[in-house]
Amino acid sequence: MKKRIAVVGAGVSGLTAAVVLAERGHDLSIFAEAIGQSTTSGAAAAIWFPYDAEPADKVIPWALETYKVLVDLSRDPPSGVSMIELRQFSRAGEIQIPDWARSLGARRLHHPSIATTTSVATGSPRDEFVRSATGRIRPTGELAGLRPAPNLAEGAGDSFKSGFVMTVPLMDTTIYLDYLRERLTKAGAAIHAGARFKALEDVDPTFDLVINCAGFGAKTLVHDADLEPHRGQVAIIPKIDNLTSAVVCDDAPLMYAIPRPHDCILGGTNELSQDLVVDAASTTRIVAECTRVLQIDNPRVLAERVGIRPFRKSGVCVERDCLRDGRTVIHNYGHGGAGFTLSWGCAREAVSLIS
Ligand SMILES: Cc1cc2nc3c(=O)[nH]c(=O)nc-3n(C[C@H](O)[C@H](O)[C@H](O)COP(=O)(O)OP(=O)(O)OC[C@H]3O[C@@H](n4cnc5c(N)ncnc54)[C@H](O)[C@@H]3O)c2cc1C
Repeated sequence: MKKRIAVVGAGVSGLTAAVVLAERGHDLSIFAEAIGQSTTSGAAAAIWFPYDAEPADKVIPWALETYKVLVDLSRDPPSGVSMIELRQFSRAGEIQIPDWARSLGARRLHHPSIATTTSVATGSPRDEFVRSATGRIRPTGELAGLRPAPNLAEGAGDSFKSGFVMTVPLMDTTIYLDYLRERLTKAGAAIHAGARFKALEDVDPTFDLVINCAGFGAKTLVHDADLEPHRGQVAIIPKIDNLTSAVVCDDAPLMYAIPRPHDCILGGTNELSQDLVVDAASTTRIVAECTRVLQIDNPRVLAERVGIRPFRKSGVCVERDCLRDGRTVIHNYGHGGAGFTLSWGCAREAVSLIS
């Protein structure tokens, strides 16, 4: 039977769950204090990668399910989803390639550098590296003697000890969140911004069912003491010439450079704090580390964004429960640093809990 459903939250988790439900014909409304760009989701780099979310035995299947949906969406350019080569590095030692990454074609980088090189031996593993890191896809024989890209010099590899490469979906949040909203509107859903609840029982009683996608807001909304604020800050800069791969290193200091179609996101930070104010010193540190690794000139910073990754110590919460007024609630929050990566897998599981 079709239900009248209220989704609380309009970040990536709420929008995705709402799309799944609305496209199945449910009478659906979203209520949220903030929508899309103004949420943590709007601050994310939004590359597919299971990071800072627990537990692995649930996170990996959700992530793999999401991967498939996003690959399909990448064939539809207006979605803002594209496929990108991800170069994941370690500063510490030999990086372990997880089994799930191998299953998606991940392979070890023979030379842990992110940059071009002045001369390369034809047919060496380094040839392969040069081709993909700079986006200059040429026949192998033409690689010998390739000059460096103008602002990507040799030597950045000194930062890293090892790495692996794989192809993953990337969501341009400036497009993707609006795309989800448009799908919702087309499916007849209503979206109400500026609605802040003290408790889920405050949701209009004419709704039979509530889906809680409040992100870190769940800490106060449902008094979940397990939620930890993992604050992240990024700097958005103009596109970097010839950087076509995402460059990521999770070892301290956390760094990433994610080229999007129209700009590039530099990160990052991950600290225990719920301070949403931009910290100028963090931006300086982020830009300094990224420019050092990428060996580029100091870029103009177009924007700085802060978001609170909703990390949940006991694991991502996709559960069915009962409100004090007897209505059913389905929780879908606590996705930590992987809300985009888990979005479709978690949304579908949340929906499956309804019946
Ligand atoms: C810097 C940074 C980089 C990141 N990079 C990536 C990445 O590359 N890949 C990836 O997968 N993930 C990434 N993440 C993590 C990802 O952003 C989060 O996991 C995701 O945004 C969580 O989405 P959400 O919809 O659950 O929560 P949010 O986006 O926080 O949305 C919560 C919604 O609930 C609403 N709400 C909260 N409380 C209430 C209330 N009381 N009443 C009404 N409404 C309420 C809010 O207004 C909002 O609409 C990153 C995060 C940060 C900060």
